[in-house]
Amino acid sequence: MNNPLLETHELPPFGSIKPEHVMPAINTILAENRSAVAALLEQSSFSWDSLIRPLEELDDRLAQAFSPVSHMNSVVNTSETRDAYNEALPRLSEYHTEMGQNPKLFKAYEAIKNGAEYETLDQPQKKTILNALRDFKLSGIDLPEEDKKRFAAISSRLSSLSSQFSDNVLDATMAWKKHIDDVALLKGLPDSALDQARQLAEQNDESGYLFTLDFPSYFPIVTYADDAELRREFYEAFTTRASDQGPNKGEWDNSSVIEEIMLLRKEMAALLGFDNYAEVSLAPKMAKDTDQVLNFLRELAAKSKPAAEREFAEICQFALEQYAASEVNAWDVGYFAEKLKEHKFSISEEALKAYFPAPRVIEGMFEVVRRLYDIEISEVSDIETWHADVHTYNVLKNGELIARFYLDLYARQNKQGGAWMDDCRVRRLSSTGEVQLPVAYLTCNFSGPVGDKPALLTHNEVVTLFHEFGHGLHHMMTKVSCGSVSGINGVAWDAVELPSQFMENWCWEPEALQFISGHFESGECLPADLLDKMMAAKTFMAGMMYARQLEFSLFDFRLHVEYTPDHIGQVQEILNEVRQEVAVIAAPETNRFQNGFSHIFGGGYAAGYYSYKWAEVLSADAFARFKEDGIFNRQTGEKFLATVLEQGGSVDAMDLFVQFRGREPEIEALLKQDGIL
Ligand code: ZN
Repeated sequence: MNNPLLETHELPPFGSIKPEHVMPAINTILAENRSAVAALLEQSSFSWDSLIRPLEELDDRLAQAFSPVSHMNSVVNTSETRDAYNEALPRLSEYHTEMGQNPKLFKAYEAIKNGAEYETLDQPQKKTILNALRDFKLSGIDLPEEDKKRFAAISSRLSSLSSQFSDNVLDATMAWKKHIDDVALLKGLPDSALDQARQLAEQNDESGYLFTLDFPSYFPIVTYADDAELRREFYEAFTTRASDQGPNKGEWDNSSVIEEIMLLRKEMAALLGFDNYAEVSLAPKMAKDTDQVLNFLRELAAKSKPAAEREFAEICQFALEQYAASEVNAWDVGYFAEKLKEHKFSISEEALKAYFPAPRVIEGMFEVVRRLYDIEISEVSDIETWHADVHTYNVLKNGELIARFYLDLYARQNKQGGAWMDDCRVRRLSSTGEVQLPVAYLTCNFSGPVGDKPALLTHNEVVTLFHEFGHGLHHMMTKVSCGSVSGINGVAWDAVELPSQFMENWCWEPEALQFISGHFESGECLPADLLDKMMAAKTFMAGMMYARQLEFSLFDFRLHVEYTPDHIGQVQEILNEVRQEVAVIAAPETNRFQNGFSHIFGGGYAAGYYSYKWAEVLSADAFARFKEDGIFNRQTGEKFLATVLEQGGSVDAMDLFVQFRGREPEIEALLKQDGIL
């Protein structure tokens, strides 16, 4: 059988890739890779060219086969593609674990690091080796036999505990429902929320309205329901999920799961030679040490708290004056904040959308990067894609092709929701000396054109598009030739969002909106008074949002720094202290937010939640340099290109930032941008 996934193509032949090609291709490549790696490791000595370059070739071949499969699974999903994809996943993860745990491979990298050749290698090559060694060590490969066994046992127990944590949250979320027949009780809810609840009731063969603790069902209640008791009831059920409190107290209780996770993380850190798990988390990140993160979070907290207090006071005063509400509880805040927002700025999304027809926005976005980086983007029509909606583009610098991308803008059936950038090809130098150009997929889910009108985007969607394009530029503008640190590869996790959030800034600048926006009928660009209103709405209640994000971040980070095995009740104690320090709204005694904090106990954010604010600071501070020099200043653009975008993961993210900014990041620019200073 001819299998396109086993052939070499400059770009994936989407039209001929079929689900039945997936497993034969993956099995063949994995088997060939395994024997190729074994053969490479038979050598008596190792060098970049004899080991790492061939390994990168093997990785790239696998990526070239699987990347279009994984992409098609997301954007043109059928039950056949899904089955093939799901069958391939465990094979791939098995293979990657095997490589990451291969002691011979580790020793071979170590031999290169300690050999005479190392000093002659260039920066991306050195970084590739250092990253590999770091990851090997973090996976416990370098431990004495006994410790290695214990490490493996802990890893496996931790992964069951984190699924148990998520399962408990899910079960607790699904267990609680509220059925309401009397629509009068639901006064204040928007029609969309009522429709949804009626539909849910119908699906359960019930009359009236059915609500659950799923966010899309829960959120409208606490934001819009006029009935305070109803809001309180939902809030209590939501914030006590999987805990010893609330309507289902003691069921699916995550308290002991949290304790065991923390205990094992602490032990794992000790085995690896760290003081605490936060240090393990930081090892591959941009932030240098735990003090740097703690100081960062505390400084943000101290500087934003007065704004949060002012905003809360404004909400309380508004609630008293307009609604005679003498107290504003945790379950009232969202409700009154929404009312205050409507009162202060009423912006019609529909009216705004008329200014953002998709073709104008896309051309405008290309114009922004033409001015910033002197690159030309031109549409090409002869590239095979997976759907008629998809557009393809060449990226040129000084007339030379440097990258390509696919743009798939609109929502459709069988396409996964959300927006993302993914890599299709990574920039690298092959063993035959040819440069493989980087290729990116940009995917969004906007509403498509209706009739002969162009698709009209909300401003939020425009921001999303710029965000994903920012990730895309990071991937495509790279000049690095080692696949594992080129483009978005090998970039520290807490620095990945810098180029994306950075791009969003141009969506708020009058000078850029001149050509990003243009009324689809009159061509007129976004009027200044509308932009002013949008800016005010953007920073509305920013201080309170900070308080919330900082509460989560500080709790997560302090817990992973301070956790002590024999200290009973420490988790709640730390949370209470953090709230004392940063929160402006008193949380009820029964609030067990931590028992549903899946980011850090069920997902990959342990001692990493700070990254959200960290990346915002980086992008705001980088953009502030453009505000100083002019938002289209060519020299500044060129500098950002040379120090951040072109370097990918080949240099430490903090060093790159310092090269661009002339100093380490500072928080003031973000606080100013969010209207807090
Ligand atoms: Zn992003």
